Amino acid sequence: MSLTVESKLPEVGTTIFTVMSAMAAEHGAINLSQGFPDYNPPEALVDAMCEALRDGKHQYAPMIGLPALREQLAITVQSRYQRKVNPDSEITVCPGATEALYCAITALVHPGDEVIVFDPAYDSYAPAIELAKGKALHLPLTMDNFAIDRDRVRDAINSRTRMIIINTPHNPTGSTLAYDDLDFLAEVTRDTNIVILSDEVYEYLVFDGAQHNSVLAKDELFQRSVAVFSFGKTFHATGWKTGYCVAPQNLMAEIRKVHQYVTFVANTAVQFALAKFYAEDTEHLSGLADFYQGKRDLFCAGLKETKFSFTPSRGTYFQLVDYSALSDLVDIEFCNAITRSGVAAIPLSPFYKEPPDHRLARFCFAKNDGTLKQALGILADFTRIE
Ligand code: PMP
Ligand code: GLN
Repeated sequence: MSLTVESKLPEVGTTIFTVMSAMAAEHGAINLSQGFPDYNPPEALVDAMCEALRDGKHQYAPMIGLPALREQLAITVQSRYQRKVNPDSEITVCPGATEALYCAITALVHPGDEVIVFDPAYDSYAPAIELAKGKALHLPLTMDNFAIDRDRVRDAINSRTRMIIINTPHNPTGSTLAYDDLDFLAEVTRDTNIVILSDEVYEYLVFDGAQHNSVLAKDELFQRSVAVFSFGKTFHATGWKTGYCVAPQNLMAEIRKVHQYVTFVANTAVQFALAKFYAEDTEHLSGLADFYQGKRDLFCAGLKETKFSFTPSRGTYFQLVDYSALSDLVDIEFCNAITRSGVAAIPLSPFYKEPPDHRLARFCFAKNDGTLKQALGILADFTRIE
């Protein structure tokens, strides 16, 4: 008798990021699909990493993360969000934000619990909820500016609601939550057992002088929140797969119970390097928003010479475009077609449970200016995509 494998995730295939990057490689296209920079982390950070490796930092770090790094993170959190957190009990270093999100969902969602996610949603949330035997309730963001539809949230909350997952700045749309969205979340969860899982991996990538609105900045919300961050985005090092989460002690204690058996620890040398870099560097973090705003502006200026329409991204390193003047194809087919023609993008429908009938795609502008200009030259030549 042959082995029967009953899938725990029967509807899950390979992620769209993997699919599109493979397709870009196959066709030699400029890869503006999966989000990652084509430039290196700061030189001093790479030096610190080499130093850590040469210095023999090859064995396990403490399960919750290197003390020196957690202390630096506590200082950063205090100065950015005026939140005093205990580095020993309220910060955990994780092998990437994905792991932190997974551990938080696994630790806090019980079978039958409902979790509100806002579509389009980052693709790792729903499978983690499903594995925890929770029920993802997909609420669409508003169609015009990808904001939270407050009436729908009020209507959706009930005694089974256990978690609300937010993501600001938002992948894939580039929208950001306003401060009064946080007020709303505080109000709507008051006197409930609802946890806010706040994916803030693009915390530094907020443009046009705006501030990033973190759950960490709001007392009432922090008490019920887990905030998740990624060094991959902040230091141009997605392949280092290191991030961290911040939560009050009672939530963090449960997350650590899962983290210690999912991966146990994050990479040691990376943590040494980051601890040193945080302690010594003052320029990288403060220049990040301007650096990415420059790339967004360059990319958007070029897009004006194409048939795409768009609203400039308010955050992240992604730009959403409407391609309806170019094509009637559905988004997956459209992205496949332009990848074959030289520039890869990510379709929006995989981020939805029930994709609306729109013509939207996402480009990543975390690329050298030369790469962006080359891609824009190809995009400007598109007159019709069939
Ligand atoms: N959340 C969002 C919204 C992301 O865009 C990413 C980037 N892949 C992640 C989480 C995961 O980050 P990491 O690579 O640190 O796991
Ligand atoms: N977060 C990245 C993106 O949105 C990709 C991460 C991944 O490939 N899993 O493109």
